[in-house]
Amino acid sequence: MIGSKKRAISKFNNIKQRCLNPNSNVYHHYKNKLNITPDQFYAWFMPIDFEGCHVDRINPDGNYEIGNLQLLTPAEHYQKTWKDREAKMKQRAHKYCYVCKEIKEIELFTNSTKSKDGKGYKCKECNRRLSKLCRNKKKSP
Ligand SMILES: [Zn+2]
Repeated sequence: MIGSKKRAISKFNNIKQRCLNPNSNVYHHYKNKLNITPDQFYAWFMPIDFEGCHVDRINPDGNYEIGNLQLLTPAEHYQKTWKDREAKMKQRAHKYCYVCKEIKEIELFTNSTKSKDGKGYKCKECNRRLSKLCRNKKKSP
């Protein structure tokens, strides 16, 4: 375990910087995410520490706290971060249609289908159906 304590301190300091230093350029991602004391961190880290390890939050939206931390190799960490981001992008790429009350993929909406009265978004399908209804109404006397 030689060098382990040194590494533990340096890892913890990095985390602290991210979470507590408003001048850090990643602070907005990590604000208020520190929920672990130095001693808790060292006790968790030192028995499993290895050269070049990265501290990862299992749930990337969760805190730095016992139960949400794991050590990964840089390659694993890179892969996971990438997957987490992709999953987030996918989550974001859905909208709720207030007409059919369904959550659908963003491709099924058009930019212009946001209702002007602030009700929300209309999917293409509902948009088409409603404008057809409108046209039919106008045709009938
Ligand atoms: Zn719809």
